[in-house]
Amino acid sequence: MFVIFGNPVNHSKSPLMHNYFFKKYGINECYGRYLLENGEEIIEKFKELNIKGANVTVPHKEWAFKLADEVRGIAKEIGAVNTLVKEGDKVIGYNTDALGFLEAIQEFDYEKALIIGAGGTAKAISLVLKADIVNRSENRLKSFKNKNTFTWESLDKFDFDLIINTTSAGLKDDLLPAPKELLEKLFKNAKYAVDVIYGRDTPFLKMAKEFNLYTKTGLDMLVYQGILAMELFLGKKLNKKEAAEIYFEILR
Ligand code: NDP
Repeated sequence: MFVIFGNPVNHSKSPLMHNYFFKKYGINECYGRYLLENGEEIIEKFKELNIKGANVTVPHKEWAFKLADEVRGIAKEIGAVNTLVKEGDKVIGYNTDALGFLEAIQEFDYEKALIIGAGGTAKAISLVLKADIVNRSENRLKSFKNKNTFTWESLDKFDFDLIINTTSAGLKDDLLPAPKELLEKLFKNAKYAVDVIYGRDTPFLKMAKEFNLYTKTGLDMLVYQGILAMELFLGKKLNKKEAAEIYFEILR
């Protein structure tokens, strides 16, 4: 048995994705949702439920990082855990979001990337991708060490070929993640635009399409973070292309 911990957790696609995967491969397992109100209880609950693994979503990724018996890999740098796996009597924490993003854009041929936003997702992606960062306000930019960081006002380079929206603008509203004039300057020179939001065509991606950019929604990131989590759950490498086809089949 596996679950996703979150609050809210109703909207999560993980149960649909992973149950379909288990069914397709004839694996006798199931994957459920767990509405966890208090993040401090995450590891206690994990052990109480006697599950083999779990995913963690907003707002509990930092609690999972703090409380896991051991944290491995890139999660240590990111400071957030999105996958928990039982190993003996220990619960081990990993993060598959950042590497999932990299898998999702593996066929892109780009040299310079710009991340819009400076939140948790931007932080995770910036650790695996050479990119400059631009954000609405200055405060969160301080946590990006060894990166070129800009606010909307101070951005003075527009020669990026990959533009990534990691803000929540467009998630539940019709906002662009940066002023239209700034995006126009960026899109004029860019080749690719990626949004980490999935489930809807955001104003950011709609605008990128008007500039004939190659676009991707956050669905690919979702699928690949899921595949990397499934590899950890099963303790073996998967044929990623084949697994991605299965996940896309149920999500599209
Ligand atoms: P955070 O709350 O950590 O960060 C939010 C960032 O967005 C901040 O930089 C904030 O700027 C900026 N922002 C918020 N609203 C606006 C706005 N209206 N205009 C411009 N900038 C804005 O969010 P997360 O990093 O946790 O999540 C961001 C998005 O990533 C969410 O939409 C989430 O659904 C998605 N996501 C997708 C995944 C996938 O698998 N596809 C995985 C994980 C997340 P400021 O600092 O100025 O406040």
